[in-house]
Amino acid sequence: MADRVPFVDLRPDASLAAELEAAAARVVRSGRYVLGPEVEAFEREIGGFVGARHAIGVSSGTDALIVSLLALGVGPGDEVVVPAFGFVATPEAVVRVGARPVFVDVDPASYHLDVARAAAALTSRTKAILVVHLFGRCVELAALSRLAASHRVALVEDAAQAIGARLHGTQAGALADVGAFSFFPTKTLGGLGDGGLVTTNDDGIAQAARSLRVHGSTQRDEFGRIGGNFRLDELQAALLRVKLRRLPETLAERRSIARGYAVALAAAPLDLPRLSDDDTYNPYVVRVRGDRDALRARLAAAGIETAIYYPRSLTQQPAFAPWRVPTPEADRAAREVLALPLRADAPARIAAVLGRG
Ligand SMILES: *Cc1c(COP(=O)(O)O)cnc(C)c1O
Repeated sequence: MADRVPFVDLRPDASLAAELEAAAARVVRSGRYVLGPEVEAFEREIGGFVGARHAIGVSSGTDALIVSLLALGVGPGDEVVVPAFGFVATPEAVVRVGARPVFVDVDPASYHLDVARAAAALTSRTKAILVVHLFGRCVELAALSRLAASHRVALVEDAAQAIGARLHGTQAGALADVGAFSFFPTKTLGGLGDGGLVTTNDDGIAQAARSLRVHGSTQRDEFGRIGGNFRLDELQAALLRVKLRRLPETLAERRSIARGYAVALAAAPLDLPRLSDDDTYNPYVVRVRGDRDALRARLAAAGIETAIYYPRSLTQQPAFAPWRVPTPEADRAAREVLALPLRADAPARIAAVLGRG
């Protein structure tokens, strides 16, 4: 039997490993370990890549969402509109700041929050619309931006899966009032641990986020608001700077594998994700027409690992029971989606298994 195809393999190649080790050694010998020159350089470099005036390194993607919402002044009594399909951290952040998540069902083609349903979900208590650029594809924001502006609510991007994704020439994280990124190892720009980033073009939001990151510090020995410890450390920033330099190559490779899948699986009973050089396929998710779990088992028997993002809609999660509403499209997505390995050898291997009937 041919080699196993793992869903992901995060081990760096030899040249990347050497660069990462050199960066780590530099920090070890520097005596600066939290919020120092590596973090500052990383913020400058990634802010330039994203095209946002401000980039604020934080401890994780989840914390980037919490800091973003706090910086916007979202709190108890407020409502935040969120999609019903995606990762738990998005609505979790809303609850963590004391606000109420208002779940909106998703568009079946993009899995993004449905614009008409989002419009219908707005109330006088709505403080923000939190969109998720799910699976590395930017949410079409034109109508949502107009909606947010006309209702005077903030528009927030959960860009945790979308570094390098674009919408009409603008990068994810520079499309709305504030953006939140994650550097969890499996993301397109993955660290060797946890990390996150807040991006914004708004000076006031940036200032609030910088303050919130260090316990609400407003000046030396003065704490003007309640924040937390949401700091990024020097080691992670130094490692991320190495990974950031390779990001253009990483993105090109991801898009090339997606093109490989489009050719290899053209005749398969699957709905493939849109093919676009604006998208980053983090992860590469298809919709299975037919028995998803049987297909998954066949691939596993052939040594090909797959994953399910996500096996439950957010409204099906027990933690969100207090805010549950019917979301049939999100529930159906949870039954039908399957993530395939984003590896160059995977499209042909999967096509061969499917071709055997
Ligand atoms: C990964 C992820 C997060 C959370 O990021 P962490 O760094 O793991 O805290 C939030 N939202 C989405 C959509 C994600 O994929």
